[in-house]
Amino acid sequence: MSEPILTVVVPCYNEEDILPYTFTKLKELLISLINESLVSDRSRLLFVDDGSKDQTWNMIYKEVLKNDLIKGLKLSRNVGHQNALLAGLNTAKEVSDCIVSIDADLQDDIEVIREFIQKYQEGYDVVYGVRKKRDTDTFFKKTTAQGFYTFMKKMGVDIIYNHADFRLMSNRAVKELERFEEVNMFLRGIVPLIGFKSTSVYYDRKERLAGETKYPLKKMIAFAFDGITSFSITPIRFVLSLGLISFFTSMLFAFYFLSLKFFGNTELGWTSLITSIWLIGGLQLTAIGLVGEYIGKIYKETKQRPKYIVDIDSFTVPMKMLINSEGEENEPYRLELSETH
Ligand code: UDP
Ligand code: MG
Repeated sequence: MSEPILTVVVPCYNEEDILPYTFTKLKELLISLINESLVSDRSRLLFVDDGSKDQTWNMIYKEVLKNDLIKGLKLSRNVGHQNALLAGLNTAKEVSDCIVSIDADLQDDIEVIREFIQKYQEGYDVVYGVRKKRDTDTFFKKTTAQGFYTFMKKMGVDIIYNHADFRLMSNRAVKELERFEEVNMFLRGIVPLIGFKSTSVYYDRKERLAGETKYPLKKMIAFAFDGITSFSITPIRFVLSLGLISFFTSMLFAFYFLSLKFFGNTELGWTSLITSIWLIGGLQLTAIGLVGEYIGKIYKETKQRPKYIVDIDSFTVPMKMLINSEGEENEPYRLELSETH
């Protein structure tokens, strides 16, 4: 069998601090993979700029112009980690046999990609990178992340424990991914749904070397909530059973109150009345809110908006550097069609 063409997709959002390190490390790895004949020399690194506000895109593009191994994709605005990743996967699948996705901060052990390739050669279509332990994460990050997985599982979302978005997918797995047309793309939940032969590879996760996490608690909660409401109706069922339980309890209470009335003692307290008003009111609001959340999701899905828009794709758009008045390289810019002939 000839060597597979590999593309490593790296979503980047405001990653200027870490990018020089990431370029060096990934280039080293790819070159050695090519030299060892594990992957084809047509393999590439694809950096996706997710509408960064810092120098990220300029850095990527300078790298693209310097080095043939590096490709860049610029999205028109920030669309979030999952959609940026999807943009990268969709672009990469046109030119590769297998695709590895990894975060720009390289907290995941890039050496494991070697094992990914081996598994791919053994015939696996999806290889999940799974973290062995979380020693290097802060206590807070560790517990919230752990809680996240347990909670998701309870809520009926079948995700691989301790697996983030570090994985290898074969070309055909990525092609199938395209058929999941939902707007709320939660890749960790969707990839297992594709099926095919899959396996996991275990590694230690490192600390972020530079820059800061783009997933503070607020985003993590939003991520979990989105994941749950896009994947399961457990919360709605829960609210339904809550409603049923309170309905039957109030029937019992009504029975009790009536009997009190008939046997002469009607001095029922204000407390119990006001408590039940608040209780039922609260329950109703929660239920309506939750139902609304799902309706909102349906609303979004029916609109079928594009999940991301590509601004510049270095695979297809030829680029050159703009030279400023001092003769220095400035921002990369797009060539007009007339300039390319
Ligand atoms: N990221 C992105 N768009 C965003 C937020 C994050 O492309 O809106 C990228 C980010 O550059 C990184 C990856 O997603 O490569 C994971 O983010 P981060 O490392 O901050 O998350 P954590 O590892 O802390 O969960
Ligand atoms: Mg990270």
